[in-house]
Amino acid sequence: MTQQTEAQRLADALDALLGYRGINADVGKAAAELRRLDEVEKAYSLLLEKTYAQHRREEMTRPPTAQLDWSLYVTCPKCDESNDLSDPQHDTEHDISNHIFSNRWERLKDWEVTCEHCNHEFKIEKVEY
Ligand SMILES: [Zn+2]
Repeated sequence: MTQQTEAQRLADALDALLGYRGINADVGKAAAELRRLDEVEKAYSLLLEKTYAQHRREEMTRPPTAQLDWSLYVTCPKCDESNDLSDPQHDTEHDISNHIFSNRWERLKDWEVTCEHCNHEFKIEKVEY
C-alpha cells in the first residue's frame, strides 16, 4: 500500500512535470519516465560542467575589459520622480553625454529637462558628482 502510494506520488510528480494526463494507471511507464528523466538530468549536469569549463577557459584567454555604466539623475521638482538624463529620451543629441565626458559640466547649467513622468519642464541648476 505504501509502495502504491509512493508510485502514485511519483506519477503525480511526473504528471505535473511533463503535463501527462492519465499516467496514473501506468506505474511502469512512470518508472521508465523517471529513469529517462534521471538520464536527462545526468546529461544536463555534464553539459553544465562542460559549459562552465569552456567559460572558464574563455575567461582565462580574454583580457578583462572595463565597462563604463553612467547615469545622471535629476528629481522633478513637480512630481518628485527621478529622471535619468543619460537616457536617449533626454539626451537626444548626445549633448549631455558630450558635456559630461569632456568635463564641461557647467554647460549643463540651466539645461532644460522635460520630466518623463509628468511632462513638467524645468532647468538644472548644476551637476554634482
Ligand atoms: Zn515630473
